[in-house]
Amino acid sequence: MNINFKGKKALVRVDFNVPLDKAYNITDDTRIREAVPTIRQILDQGGSAILMSHLGRPLEKKNPDGSINREKFTLKHLVKHLRKKLKAKVHFAEDCVGKPAEKKAAALKPGEVLLLENTRFHPEEEAGDEAFAKKLAALGDVYINDAFGTAHRAHASTTIVAHYFDKSHKSFGLLMEREILNASRAIHNPAKPVTCVTGGAKVSDKILLLEKFLDYADNILIGGAMAYTFMLAKKGATVGNSLVEADKLKIAKDFLKKAKAAGVKVLLPKDSVCGDKFAADAQTQVCPSHQIPDGWMGLDIGPAAARAFASVIRKSQTVIWNGPMGVFEMPAFADGTKVVAKAVASATKKGAFTMVGGGDSVAAVNQLKLAKKVSFVSTGGGAMLEFLEGKELPGIKAIGS
Ligand code: AMP
Repeated sequence: MNINFKGKKALVRVDFNVPLDKAYNITDDTRIREAVPTIRQILDQGGSAILMSHLGRPLEKKNPDGSINREKFTLKHLVKHLRKKLKAKVHFAEDCVGKPAEKKAAALKPGEVLLLENTRFHPEEEAGDEAFAKKLAALGDVYINDAFGTAHRAHASTTIVAHYFDKSHKSFGLLMEREILNASRAIHNPAKPVTCVTGGAKVSDKILLLEKFLDYADNILIGGAMAYTFMLAKKGATVGNSLVEADKLKIAKDFLKKAKAAGVKVLLPKDSVCGDKFAADAQTQVCPSHQIPDGWMGLDIGPAAARAFASVIRKSQTVIWNGPMGVFEMPAFADGTKVVAKAVASATKKGAFTMVGGGDSVAAVNQLKLAKKVSFVSTGGGAMLEFLEGKELPGIKAIGS
């Protein structure tokens, strides 16, 4: 952040979309903790911070009478915790725009924080409304975007608001700087060999990413349910009841052809841990992935596949991992993801640059307590996917223009 915050009111877009329990206690404060360094730097330099964020989807989850469930989605639930984490005075404005917000912002003293109410209480936020963004912009002297997770959305507080500040009065926050730096490192001239590991449920979600990987990867490892659509794209394979996207077979076939032409090695799982139902207590057996019997479904990569994937990962200098290898939420189908996570940690130890992104693979790495043993864990699911796909994210573009 190359802005001197002394005497300035910094309008900061943070991502405080934290999980709350039924009594509105924060069950995971990672996002708040990660925003602290940016806010502290502003306060320590003698500035004040006006924080704005969304929390959940209040407009989609309204009360039966059509009103907004303010109690459930208010950011007020976060004030006490924020005070503790920031060790600063934290005020709260009951609305993110309008007189009370303006008054409280104007009265804010250096070293103090004002948390604005959920921006998504206003439909103008997600619509990217100019007039609404202008009102938000009027609250601060400078604008900081530290919410990487929403940088792929052209919402008022993530993108449009930045148009009201000139280049010297806006910047990324420290968290967002780190995300951009690491993702750029992964895709621009990465050290070779580069291995991209993908998994998860759907080919349709990941196909753009896979196609982009063809530009710079040496190896692409495909696990998760999406592997079975690729498996079916090969002649003579049967995958039983595994989750497949029949309408994506052509895309899968084309991708395998393109990879071959580009000289990129694509590894599909040789074997699979199969279950007789999609359940934690399913009967299980290991089968070749191209010969899964009727009535059985592939729910994890098998032990031979896990060994093969791990061996490629361990020999890589750059590893990008997005998506679990199986239904890792169920212990019987978590081994493939575990083996991959450990191999990524071991590659890191040997000097590789490794990056994990996407909600489920991040959860797996955290569960295995390996987050500190990989080079970078991204906080931005969809935003990171789009960044890796090579798309220009509106929230990033708005800071640079
Ligand atoms: P995604 O959000 O696309 O990364 O998908 C993650 C989800 O895919 C997780 O909830 C996994 O349980 C699920 N998943 C991974 N492998 C399989 C599989 N073989 N069959 C069904 N679901 C899977």
